[in-house]
Amino acid sequence: AMNYRHAFHAGNFADVLKHSVLALCLEHLNAKPKPYRVIDTHAGIGGYDLASSEAERSPEWKDGIGRLIDADLPEPVQAMLGPWLDIVREMNPDGIKAYPGSPEIAARLIREEDRVHLCELHEADSVTLDNRYRRDARIKVERRDGYKALKSLVPPKEKRGLVLIDPPFEDRDELAHMAEAVMGALAKWPTGTFIFWRSLKNLWAADRFDNGLAEWLISEKDFEPEKILRADLWIRDLASEGKLAGAGVVIINPPFTLEETLVNAMPWLAETLAQGNGYGWRVDGGLTEDDLDEGEG
Ligand code: SAM
Repeated sequence: AMNYRHAFHAGNFADVLKHSVLALCLEHLNAKPKPYRVIDTHAGIGGYDLASSEAERSPEWKDGIGRLIDADLPEPVQAMLGPWLDIVREMNPDGIKAYPGSPEIAARLIREEDRVHLCELHEADSVTLDNRYRRDARIKVERRDGYKALKSLVPPKEKRGLVLIDPPFEDRDELAHMAEAVMGALAKWPTGTFIFWRSLKNLWAADRFDNGLAEWLISEKDFEPEKILRADLWIRDLASEGKLAGAGVVIINPPFTLEETLVNAMPWLAETLAQGNGYGWRVDGGLTEDDLDEGEG
């Protein structure tokens, strides 16, 4: 069943981390003139109305983007959030009403020669998405299973670019599906930048995914540990009951400055977005062999 509606969650703390990292990776790709491609396997509807009934029933955005849009950002935080916040502000000249999904962030950051490929399996959502971008020749929308599509979409002919994998986590086996899709795609396109979003309901399961992927990349694919970065943020104690308390991204082939940018901003960000005791963050650049040993111990 496809029950997940991102409109309930759009602009929450997890989107803040995911979308700011996405914008930073796209800015990095923009530093070179050669065209690139963005592949978004679970694209959603592209943009969210924060006054919609879903957003009003579950105003998670108020404690995410809502706490940041008018905040006075310290310089290291500006370095992390700036490219993403510029887009949100550009869409909202008169107070915050709209929130950009990952397709909209890509649409606003790519250049004339770059391309975006969006997969969305939900029938009505894929129509909404297609209507939104039908006049933009740079952007292609497909109603298709993003995991299955990924294998045939990489490597893109541009040979440069980024894949975002942002599934709904409705399914208990989502991490296993993701790992499988990812390994297939990375084997075909080892130089692409990959961003995986994953929830942090269970530290052990998240670590198992991160370490399993890192171990495979390092031992089977000769990856340098620096090519694997993860960033997690939790807004209250991870063991607390209720709504999602933590989430993060794993980035393969990140821009080399990303780790430092995140490390410098996360203390302020975690404190600013906190919703209770026990909030925190971690950024691990290069899951090293030591980390892997720990994970296995
Ligand atoms: N990436 C979007 C963003 O950042 O704005 C949000 C995506 S939302 C977390 C996940 C989306 O995946 C939902 O819109 C859902 O309908 C869609 N979906 C679920 N299973 C899918 C699949 N197998 N292939 C493609 N899309 C899928």
